[in-house]
Parts: sequence; structure tokens; C-alpha cells
Amino acid sequence: MKDYKKEKLRRLNLEYSKLPYRRKDWRLSRNFVAGEGPTNAKIMIIGQAPGAKEDALKSPFVGRSGKLLTDALSKAGIERKNVYITSVVQFFPPNNRAPSRKEIELCKPFLFKQIDIIKPKFVILLGNIALHTVLGKENISKEHGKAVKKKDIIYFVTFHPAAALRSAKAKKMFIMDIEKFARILKRT
Ligand code: URA
Repeated sequence: MKDYKKEKLRRLNLEYSKLPYRRKDWRLSRNFVAGEGPTNAKIMIIGQAPGAKEDALKSPFVGRSGKLLTDALSKAGIERKNVYITSVVQFFPPNNRAPSRKEIELCKPFLFKQIDIIKPKFVILLGNIALHTVLGKENISKEHGKAVKKKDIIYFVTFHPAAALRSAKAKKMFIMDIEKFARILKRT
């Protein structure tokens, strides 16, 4: 059977990857970092934006944050290869700055279309930018570890692994959150 989701994503990514060439005010890298994983994934993970290593390799979560994410998933019994991984903004913001509000607004429709195509049962939101962009909420310290059901999708909130790498306390909570998510996954 033809993989229609794959074809839809390919077309969407093609359009998305042309954004830098259509805008005079472009300040992000021009390298498009496509989401990665099976198009029929039950779980989708959404980060903030690629880092320098992701920009160089054009692949999401391949740096230190990615290793922590992969390890935390594996410890909780979830294989990364079964998860679809993407970010709110799919172009590297130079100097590792956070993407601006305007940049997020520009990329957001593409993210929502990706969610629509993949139709995951679960979405893990990593950090404040993913939390705010997708659920309109602000406070990651308050919201982490919570699951919210919205239109047939269960959204689970946790810290961004980059934040977890900066603080031992956040790292511990991040790992515990992923384990909590795995328990929710098992009983759903
Ligand atoms: N951090 C993100 O949010 N996304 C990536 O792809 C890599 C690091």
C-alpha cells in the first residue's frame, strides 16, 4: 500500500524548507532539519529548535540533548526509532538563541500540519516553547509531568533535555517525567 502520510510529509517539508528563500527578513539557518521517525508513530516528540550539531547533520536531536532524550526514553522502555521527533522551529537559530515570537509564528502552521498528518496518540512537549506553542501555557516548572487530552491526542509536558543538562534537579525531574509518561502509555 502506498504510504500517503509519507508523501504528504514530503510535500509539506518541501514547502517548509523553501521558507528561508521566500523571506527577506530570514535570520535562522537555511538548513532545514526535517522531523524523523515512522509516519505511523504512536508517539510524537516536539522540541524547540535544532542546535548547531543538528544544523550541521540536518537531523533532529543528534547532539547532547538528543543523547539524554534517547537514554531517558530507553530507560523507560521506549525505543527512539518508534517515535516521530521534530521541533517547533526546524531551522537552527544562530548562536543557539531561542527562536523569536515571529519565527515561531512562521513555523507553527507547519508543525500543526505535521501533527495532523502523523495523527499520533501521544505528543511529548519538551520545554516552554513547545508547551506555549502547542497548548498556550507558560510555566514548565508548574506544568511538567502533566498529561492533557485535546482532540483525541494526549499531550504530555516535560522539560527540554537541554535544560535538564544544565541542572541536576531538572535532569532528575525530566527522567522521572519520561518514566511517568511510559506508565501512562502502558495503561492507555
Ligand atoms: N533541541 C531541539 O529542540 N530540537 C532539536 O532538533 C535538537 C535540539
